[in-house]
Amino acid sequence: MVQAIPWWTPMPHVRGPLKVGGRPTADRYRWLVESVQEVIFEADPEGRWTYLNPAWHRILGYDVDQCLGTPFLDYVHPEDRQANLDIFVDTLTTGKEKCRFEARYVTADGGVRWMEIHAWIFRDAAGASLGSTGTITDVTERHLAKLELERRATHDSLTGLPNRALLDQELVAAIHRCAAGERPLALVFLDLDRFKLVNDSLGHDAGDEVLRAVAGRLQQAAQSGEVIGRFGGDEFVLISDMLSPAAMRSFTHRLHSTVSAPISVAGRELGLSASVGASMLAATAAAQAVSDGTVAELAATLLRDADSAMYHAKETGRDRTEIFSADTRARIVNKFDTETELRLAIIRGELLLMYQPQIDLGTGAVVGFEALVRWDHPQRGRLLPADFMEVAEDSGLVVPLGRWVLAEACRASVVLERTRNQSARMAVNVSAREMLSSGLVADLADILAETGASPDRLCLELTESALLPDADAAAAIMTELADLGLQLSLDDFGTGFSSLTYLQRLPLRELKIDRSFVSQIQQKDGLAMVAAVMSLAEALGLETVAEGVEDPYQVRALTKLGCTTGQGFLLGHPAELADAVTARPVLPSQRRALSRV
Ligand code: C2E
Ligand code: CA
Ligand code: CA
Repeated sequence: MVQAIPWWTPMPHVRGPLKVGGRPTADRYRWLVESVQEVIFEADPEGRWTYLNPAWHRILGYDVDQCLGTPFLDYVHPEDRQANLDIFVDTLTTGKEKCRFEARYVTADGGVRWMEIHAWIFRDAAGASLGSTGTITDVTERHLAKLELERRATHDSLTGLPNRALLDQELVAAIHRCAAGERPLALVFLDLDRFKLVNDSLGHDAGDEVLRAVAGRLQQAAQSGEVIGRFGGDEFVLISDMLSPAAMRSFTHRLHSTVSAPISVAGRELGLSASVGASMLAATAAAQAVSDGTVAELAATLLRDADSAMYHAKETGRDRTEIFSADTRARIVNKFDTETELRLAIIRGELLLMYQPQIDLGTGAVVGFEALVRWDHPQRGRLLPADFMEVAEDSGLVVPLGRWVLAEACRASVVLERTRNQSARMAVNVSAREMLSSGLVADLADILAETGASPDRLCLELTESALLPDADAAAAIMTELADLGLQLSLDDFGTGFSSLTYLQRLPLRELKIDRSFVSQIQQKDGLAMVAAVMSLAEALGLETVAEGVEDPYQVRALTKLGCTTGQGFLLGHPAELADAVTARPVLPSQRRALSRV
């Protein structure tokens, strides 16, 4: 029998009523000890239980009598035993009076509870241990709450994936592993294509559902050793430390097919795609950063490079992978230069407009012009919109650029009106960003007043992408523009997603049939497509202008289908104002030739 601790002898269970009040009695102490929520224990100097109150049974399910005489360590989770023992031995040998620790205890039915132990050691006059007593509190709920808090700080609440903070940590750890293990490290950025459209057309709940579905799929596609997290928005990041550059292609191929399998959301089947960018790190560069103490900087560079590569994948058609290279860096620098120069170009007057005639296909008369912007770059020569409009869009410079274009086109319209006998309208392209920029309507009213151009001669060409992001706002602005007396035309028609009911609400005057349809009019499908657009236009009471007319056959086919106006290299190239002033109707002889084809 173990020696009991002198100041208190274990007592049998108390039953029956207790008297309260007055001086504390032994019974009342006993009742207190046996009714508290916490386990109260005594153990001998070797750590074997000599007393356990009923809470022991209540919390862990063991029979108290069977536990007496067994070592306390038997009940501690195997993974926590060593740490527990260390604290216990340390307390005993260093002469400390008490200790506190947390450990997992295994319950009678094999479960696990987190317990907080406070133990006091009793010693004899020479300092030798006589045993211990103390409390064991069940802190499982508190522990789980703490774990949940930690999880929330490091995980994305929508998808449950590691969040940006955790990804940063994982990346730093992966760089260290790369440095030590001489394996290349790959960092992959995956961004869903046109995700905004899902949000805008199906609502944010559907968007959330899509993100969760994609997250789940990426997790399934991941192999051990790969970390997948949500970087933000519709951006996911994958860290893999077992890829060779050759394996990278098949890896990202796997990602593309994972994302592109149909997802059903809000009762619809969606076909998604993603643009992927990757950056790779060689073991030598990782080791260098570790020895220089620049791992954090290296991590930031890897992220930036993968992001740039992803951005480039988007720019070059989406649904593809781009691996970061020196070229990617050069392109970014070039883009940055273009932006800086474009800012100056607007001020320095390096922009100019070219005017492409729009022709009445029946009479050959010039009925209008489309203003097309050019940039006379001091070093690179005359640049087309394709060379700089994207930079203008992304940087927001398209707004001041567009205001300049509008003013210049209005001035040209006045010149054309004065110098040509017939009236011709002036079509100006307005991008999505300009459309939704603040003050467009007021600025246009000022421009019209200052230049003296007639609003009814001015036609704004909008694309469907300009209308989609915020359909209601776009419709409201369009109504204001129409109220100013302007004509509105829907450019590149057929390449977007507009629904018929939506188009019906808009104060449009015409549709421009996209060049891709006109160029295919010789083929059966192309013809059917143009015919469909024509009947749609008719149903909506809209006029049509065919773009990119390059072939007499197209003129005939278009005329047959009832399209009255055409624009294209066959009918006139974009020309400077001086030439536009003298642009002549397509001659009757040409027209006869055209119609004979
Ligand atoms: P868009 O509005 O579809 O303009 C028509 C484009 O097709 C022009 O190219 C024009 O030169 C070209 N084109 C005309 N006829 C033919 C043809 O028969 N065959 C072929 N292959 N092409 C033809 P450009 O001038 O390079 O303009 C490209 C795009 O840049 C325009 O497409 C428009 O979206 C945008 N853009 C041009 N000027 C402006 C502007 O001032 N502001 C804004 N926001 N965008 C502009
Ligand atoms: Ca246009
Ligand atoms: Ca167009």
